[in-house]
Amino acid sequence: MEEKILKQNPALRKLLDEVDILYEEPVTISQISFSKKTQLEQHVLCIGDAAGMITPLCGNGMSMALHASKIAAEIIPSFLENKISREEMEELYQKNWNRQFAGRLRTGRLIQSFFGKTFWSIFLIRALKPFPFLVRALIRQTHGERF
Ligand SMILES: Cc1cc2nc3c(=O)[nH]c(=O)nc-3n(C[C@H](O)[C@H](O)[C@H](O)COP(=O)(O)OP(=O)(O)OC[C@H]3O[C@@H](n4cnc5c(N)ncnc54)[C@H](O)[C@@H]3O)c2cc1C
Repeated sequence: MEEKILKQNPALRKLLDEVDILYEEPVTISQISFSKKTQLEQHVLCIGDAAGMITPLCGNGMSMALHASKIAAEIIPSFLENKISREEMEELYQKNWNRQFAGRLRTGRLIQSFFGKTFWSIFLIRALKPFPFLVRALIRQTHGERF
């Protein structure tokens, strides 16, 4: 696959030819689901990939995991200090999580859906290439702000 497919892309060819290979065999992953998840499982607040996984094209899953931790950490003390009920904590967490990430995940899924279909991949890349500001706007839509 590296030789026959990936190296057709000149940038990947350069990368694959120049990197130091660490393992004898390539390490790959598959069967990852990017479908919608719930942020609450049996009263457990889910953070990171457990709450929702952004498509690889959009990148920053590590940042999202840290950000979801922050959202949870801001809410949990009020519950522990009996200022809000468990239900209120759960509802607030889901609301804040969705406000922060739902739109980004939706855009990510939409962009990702173009790739994997040859016609639409080429169409999207060609359509966006002359408009770098649109590409930047799309990236902003999926990467969010610093927190
Ligand atoms: C191939 C690949 C490349 C990626 N590249 C990037 C990238 O370049 N940049 C980026 O920002 N993100 C990237 N991501 C996404 C990023 O790795 C994740 O979004 C992020 O690690 C999510 O953090 P997390 O804490 O939710 O989950 P994880 O980092 O997966 O941590 C979960 C941990 O829980 C452990 N665990 C699971 N079940 C149990 C159990 N029952 N008991 C005890 N422990 C358990 C696991 O072993 C694991 O250590 C990539 C992901 C993949 C798969």
